[in-house]
Amino acid sequence: FSVDPAAHNPARHFVGGKVPLGLKRKGLRVLVTGGAGFVGSHLVDRLVARGDSVIVVDNLFTGRKENVMHHFGNPNFEMIRHDVVEPILLEVDQIYHLACPASPVHYKYNPVKTIISFHLIHSLHTSRFTTWIFDRCRRRKGQSRSTLCLDLVELWSKLNSDIKCGENTNVVGTLNMLGLAKRIGARFLLTSTSEVYGDPLQHPQVETYWGNVNPIGVRSCYDEGKRTAETLTMDYHRGANLEVRIARIFNTYGPRMCIDDGRVVSNFVAQALRKEPLTVYGDGKQTRSFQYVSDLVEGLMKLMEGEHIGPFNLGNPGEFTMLELAKVVQDTIDPNARIEFRENTQDDPHKRKPDITKAKELLGWEPKIPLRDGLPLMVTDFRKRIFGDQDGDGT
Ligand code: NAD
Ligand code: UDP
Ligand code: UDP
Repeated sequence: FSVDPAAHNPARHFVGGKVPLGLKRKGLRVLVTGGAGFVGSHLVDRLVARGDSVIVVDNLFTGRKENVMHHFGNPNFEMIRHDVVEPILLEVDQIYHLACPASPVHYKYNPVKTIISFHLIHSLHTSRFTTWIFDRCRRRKGQSRSTLCLDLVELWSKLNSDIKCGENTNVVGTLNMLGLAKRIGARFLLTSTSEVYGDPLQHPQVETYWGNVNPIGVRSCYDEGKRTAETLTMDYHRGANLEVRIARIFNTYGPRMCIDDGRVVSNFVAQALRKEPLTVYGDGKQTRSFQYVSDLVEGLMKLMEGEHIGPFNLGNPGEFTMLELAKVVQDTIDPNARIEFRENTQDDPHKRKPDITKAKELLGWEPKIPLRDGLPLMVTDFRKRIFGDQDGDGT
């Protein structure tokens, strides 16, 4: 943590995007990791529209080129196909770090790979064993502590050939993006999640609540991964004086959501359009609060531009049981859509609803679009993508 970030930043006059009072704001250079995904691509649209130069870094694991294709050819837009688990050198003013497999289907796909790699990296980074090897390696070849951790993980994974470490994890990717932000003096925003509250014992959830996460459950690779990412972000803030922002995002829906990613809103909408039964897991009485994507993007930008680190809950406090959500989908798409009950997944949180007092007061932000208004916009997009119906009007 010894490097002076501003000294390495060609845009140091606007470090972290702070424009001195009285000066007209110039376009910033903004990196969006995971920018070809659902949330990221909507954020990119807003940033490009306001005149920023945007670089997307995405490995297209769950994202799609189609989400950002409309910017190809724009000199203010660039897409780099890259896995954030690998280091990268760029020069930007702000970093929105979204890259992460976000739906349960994707993050449960190989939980061992996910959980082992981030726990290993985190414990290696802080262990005395690493310090011991680090001191010797540095004397030998000037190797950095993080590079050493990655080398050790690689070595370890070679010894355990069926567990390939370092791929698609919250932690290695976040560490690299924090290292990048530190080197260039960029402001860094982490998109964390309401999942850090686990199966909450406090309702609604306030940012001061520390959560109730099962550390050994099937969801913990994601929940604990994001918790560790928050820890790393704050460690870089405290240790390297990095300007950071943390958003805890609650369930978000809208156009460009991955159609078959298993999340409840995309499942119900696709099922209703395909005339399949809506699959309600468990008794359907568990609750979630659904936020439309443009509200979230507005909140992320306000957070990045504001003066407060957070964490901030960004979500819509409107709370629905899954049966109530199914009813809204029936009313919007097909009143005759049947409901089919399925066994619930393990460790499913019983309820979730954000307390957004802090975001209202400090960011001047609150969501504007209720579920019944936002859902039809998503249905139009899904119709186009499922049936190739260009107007999305069902004809
Ligand atoms: P998404 O899957 O649509 O987007 C994630 C993007 O990251 C994809 O484009 C994917 O290809 C990319 N990516 C994944 N691993 C990568 C890697 N190793 N290197 C480079 N790119 C990689 O998901 P989303 O819903 O847009 O979520 C965006 C962020 O918001 C995530 O960090 C997620 O955890 C967070 N979040 C989303 C929600 C929600 O309801 N959508 C809720 C809470 C938190
Ligand atoms: N890193 C990166 N791009 C940069 C600077 C750093 O990808 O421009 C990565 C680097 O490879 C390392 C991580 O970020 O794995 C953390 O870097 P930092 O400098 O904080 O830690 P150190 O390498 O000094 O331990
Ligand atoms: N769910 C459901 N039917 C589905 C998919 C999910 O009833 O087809 C339930 C799931 O059990 C959970 C809620 O919907 O209680 C939200 O699930 P999702 O995966 O969308 O988000 P998360 O659990 O991560 O909040």
